[in-house]
Amino acid sequence: MSIDTALAGLQSFLGNRLSRSKGDLAAHGTSETHFAPAPPDAVAWPETAEEVARIVEICAQEGCPVVGWGTGTSLEAQSLAVRGGVVVDFARMNKVLQVNAEDMNVVVQPGLTREALNRELRATGLFFPVDPGADASLGGMASTRASGTTTVRYGTMRDGVMALQVVLGDGRLIRTGSRARKSSTGYDLTALIVGSEGTLGLITELTLRLHGVPEAVSSAVCAFADMEGAVNAVIETIQSGVEMARIEFVDAATARAFNLHAGADMPEKPHLLVEFHGSPTAVAEQAALFG
Ligand SMILES: Cc1cc2nc3c(=O)[nH]c(=O)nc-3n(C[C@H](O)[C@H](O)[C@H](O)COP(=O)(O)OP(=O)(O)OC[C@H]3O[C@@H](n4cnc5c(N)ncnc54)[C@H](O)[C@@H]3O)c2cc1C
Repeated sequence: MSIDTALAGLQSFLGNRLSRSKGDLAAHGTSETHFAPAPPDAVAWPETAEEVARIVEICAQEGCPVVGWGTGTSLEAQSLAVRGGVVVDFARMNKVLQVNAEDMNVVVQPGLTREALNRELRATGLFFPVDPGADASLGGMASTRASGTTTVRYGTMRDGVMALQVVLGDGRLIRTGSRARKSSTGYDLTALIVGSEGTLGLITELTLRLHGVPEAVSSAVCAFADMEGAVNAVIETIQSGVEMARIEFVDAATARAFNLHAGADMPEKPHLLVEFHGSPTAVAEQAALFG
């Protein structure tokens, strides 16, 4: 059992889609995290689920660690190869496979980024709402159970993923969940895989729940005298059932940072940044209620 034997096996079918160049190792040994870089022994760029399965099977036989890689924007160092091995970069598996507009779902490959997906969906009047700030890959977002500024309205990746295709640690390819909205048979393996950070398998396909692009969007920036006032406003807003699309808290120090960096001209006080989605009438009503 050795990493070198595993890499020779991978080279035989990946060819130049397996790299050991210093540049590729360094680029995949560091992410947005503050932890120290940890480069892998090699980087693989598969193009199909079957290739991913073969990579994992060979690596499992040779005891070679395998780490998934989306866009490397995760902050907790999960994408670093702390024990070496092969980083599987999903950049070449970045296609929209099937848009089911009437059912409001879409089947995609894991390397597709959320912004690219929403560009592809533009003509359908639908969008995928989970927004972690970075233009992350959908496979990486599912693996970290990403959330973001729209979570208060649309939920996290836990709510957005309906079904998955996954390569397990021994190279077996399985499917979890389905496009049906409800199923009460069997274990909820989709929920188990979402958030498992690549430890239970590599995601090779995702079915995602879509939402209608809102007819109207309005936003507001509200300054508060103190933090308690801002926090109480959030609690009362949620409890009174006002449908917020975004509600973000900014403390006084962050408002100052915005001013210094971008000349935002905000009072140096706690703020809430809010957004409402819906029909023009609904948005006006929500904004008035919030006010
Ligand atoms: C400015 C900024 C703001 C952010 N804000 C938020 C936020 O508000 N909320 C939030 O949740 N996150 C936030 N993040 C973190 C980050 O965007 C998410 O963790 C993102 O979901 C990771 O996606 P990725 O494609 O970059 O994955 P990577 O960083 O490449 O990988 C993340 C994890 O998923 C695994 N993985 C990747 N692809 C697969 C796959 N196909 N199958 C199995 N495992 C895989 C990796 O091994 C690793 O464990 C922010 C990041 C930045 C830089």
